[in-house]
Amino acid sequence: MSDITGVLSNKKLTRDDIVRLLGCEGDDMNMLFIRAREVKDENVGGVVYLRGLVEFSNMCAKNCLYCGIRLDNKLVPRYRLSVDEIVEAARFAHDNRYASIVLQSGELESEDFTAFVEKMLEAIHRATNNSLRVTLSCGEQRKEVYQRWFDAGAHRYLLRIETSNPRLYALYHPADGRHSHARRMQCLEDLRDCDYQVGTGVMIGLPYQQLCDLADDILFMSSLGIDMVGMGPYVEHALTPLYDSRHQLLPLQQRFDLALKMIAVLRMVMPKINIAASTALQAIDPMGREKAIAKGANVIMPNITPGIYRNNYTLYENKPCRDEGADDCKNCLDVSISLINNTIAYGEWGDSKQYLLSR
Ligand code: SAH
Ligand code: SF4
Repeated sequence: MSDITGVLSNKKLTRDDIVRLLGCEGDDMNMLFIRAREVKDENVGGVVYLRGLVEFSNMCAKNCLYCGIRLDNKLVPRYRLSVDEIVEAARFAHDNRYASIVLQSGELESEDFTAFVEKMLEAIHRATNNSLRVTLSCGEQRKEVYQRWFDAGAHRYLLRIETSNPRLYALYHPADGRHSHARRMQCLEDLRDCDYQVGTGVMIGLPYQQLCDLADDILFMSSLGIDMVGMGPYVEHALTPLYDSRHQLLPLQQRFDLALKMIAVLRMVMPKINIAASTALQAIDPMGREKAIAKGANVIMPNITPGIYRNNYTLYENKPCRDEGADDCKNCLDVSISLINNTIAYGEWGDSKQYLLSR
């Protein structure tokens, strides 16, 4: 019996076990993936839930050092979709039985933005007879704002912690008093208090990040009892300050494998949560999302943002599907998901089992 078999059969994975699994390669890595797939099948089944992703605005007041749409990148034309355009995308999701959408944007804290999001939520529910589950991902906000959006019909919220290590967080964000790890933690707590299904996540393969940091990220998400996770590889962007640290990075393929290992281990540690196959995986490997589904993820977020805006929501380089209409993405997904013996659960909300059991 190889050591990895012993680790994989441990009931509760320790930090050392997780570091070991994240570092494994070759046959050991394949054994990890097989075990994660078994855990997935036993706990959430071989189904994939779809969330139509609408990137409704790239206006952002923040300056995260890794992100292509940071405030100081003056080369990006800024946009905000109209409520009508957003409703149109929501209708597309509804008509194609996605059952759920994610509305994502840069981070603005203003009454104008808060009211716009409220208006957009109400219009979507009116147009689709309250049939869609709606996730927001609009960054850090005051608790009152989260409550207003919940009351206007948002059910879920995604706010990645990016890294659970405050020392690393400080390396990837400017020290201007507006980028605080502590506030992000507080926001996750506030979202819980407002009764959202809460999702978080991290970037994988950031400069200076070690395997033990990623193990701590998994233990952090587990200790928070989070309902859903979206995490993916860090992909450098030439027009960002963190690009200067690119010589510290693992090669792309290794970052990709590490992201898959993170998904597999997280599935073992949190068997009943929803785990998204992030779009950044697809930026490295055209079949990246499908590979993640085969190793423990159970959610895919096809981009349904109107094509003309997609080039301007470039958080990282090689972002996929930038020139496609929403239909193109849908057709190929049916085929590629069935190739890995999963099926798409059309028409199902796909609430996280962890959430349903814990509330
Ligand atoms: N403004 C919101 C939501 C949009 S950004 C927020 O920050 O929460 C959504 C996610 O994109 C971020 O949480 C970050 O994890 C990811 N992201 C940004 N730049 C990235 C990059 N260069 N590589 C990979 N992921 C990136
Ligand atoms: Fe803005 Fe989010 Fe990008 Fe940070 S990661 S700059 S908050 S869009």
